[in-house]
Amino acid sequence: MSEKQYSPALPPATLGVMGGGQLGRMFAHAAQSMGFKVAVLEPSSDCPAGQAADSMIVAGYDDQSALAALGAQCVAVTTEFENVPADSLALLAQQTFVAPAAQCVSVAQDRLLEKRFFVDCAPLSGVMPAPHKTIASTEDIDAIPDDLLPGILKTVRMGYDGKGQVRVKTRADVAAAFAAMNGVTCLLEKMLPLAYEVSVLTARGADGESVVYPIAENVHRDGILFTTTVPGPNVSDECALRAQDAARSIVAQLGYVGVLCIEFFVLQDGTLVVNEMAPRPHNSGHYTIDACVTSQFAQQVRAMARLPLGDVRQHSPAIMLNILGDVWYEGSGDAVREPDWAKVLALPGACLHLYGKEEPRRARKMGHLTLVAPSLAEAHAKLRSACAILNIGLDE
Ligand code: ATP
Ligand code: MG
Repeated sequence: MSEKQYSPALPPATLGVMGGGQLGRMFAHAAQSMGFKVAVLEPSSDCPAGQAADSMIVAGYDDQSALAALGAQCVAVTTEFENVPADSLALLAQQTFVAPAAQCVSVAQDRLLEKRFFVDCAPLSGVMPAPHKTIASTEDIDAIPDDLLPGILKTVRMGYDGKGQVRVKTRADVAAAFAAMNGVTCLLEKMLPLAYEVSVLTARGADGESVVYPIAENVHRDGILFTTTVPGPNVSDECALRAQDAARSIVAQLGYVGVLCIEFFVLQDGTLVVNEMAPRPHNSGHYTIDACVTSQFAQQVRAMARLPLGDVRQHSPAIMLNILGDVWYEGSGDAVREPDWAKVLALPGACLHLYGKEEPRRARKMGHLTLVAPSLAEAHAKLRSACAILNIGLDE
């Protein structure tokens, strides 16, 4: 593919971001700390990234004149929202440098294309995705091989935080779940015996150089990331190397530019399985803000600006705890109150990040707390204290 050659973009140029959520907000903070200006395009006027950006374009992600205005203003544009229309990124790319590219984002937006891509990568990456089958019709259901059940039926597009997923045991379950999804194309994935889940954050520059962060161990609760621990207590050195090598190979085979996070399952027999990838900074990479030399957001700035990538070294063990709207509620009623942040901040090594969202709905990501300490055991003790203050149950 022939691409225009771009020279490095330097501050105080403006960097653009598609999407106004918390990832865009933390991106803006990182870009501005390097002296860049930030423009955000997002449909809702009061949004976490808009509060931080230098300028905002309030428009739909496919509004052509808004895209033209963003492209004209920015030396580079990125996305913080995974489901941004790939066509919009392609349109922007006619005007300015776009990272990640539309074609990379469109692979990650479609579980089927993503799985196929992982299979194609396997000879070099050494990892396969879970066994799976496309379910687009009732005939597909009849043809499900026995060994794909029990499984999980996932919508091909628009799934996140466990939404658009149903656990199924029989073909009849698949038929019912498929009908409930209004017949949108789905993927049936074999239910695998997971030992634990990890993610590998990588960044690749336009020159093909790449960096890989330390491997992160993730715990989900109700389908939403609950904690990320780095270094992962279950992760062996050998497993970390395998996952990092696989991630490096996948990001290169995708020809990707920017920050990419790849989620893997580690099975009970030690097999590494690649699950999915996010073409942007990722929730499991938030710990890098407080525990690494270069945060994932600063890295995204460097990659899109064609500047040298930063040092990924982790200087402190860290545990990231997502803060959901639930902690604003006392018990099961509707009354909300502000959590006792002063008490949380009294814990040494507690780094609080709140996203500026007005309404603390249950299960809504409102912020995160990273606990850094000289050892993982100490970080864990702080996590226990923070959870006690915030009334978050911790199964141990
Ligand atoms: P997110 O956006 O939070 O990453 P998602 O909705 O895109 O989630 P997945 O990551 O594919 O969906 O799945 C959510 C969780 O469900 C996984 O983190 C894992 O715990 C579990 N899961 C998914 N697929 C499988 C599988 N094939 N076998 C066992 N568990 C699975
Ligand atoms: Mg996932």
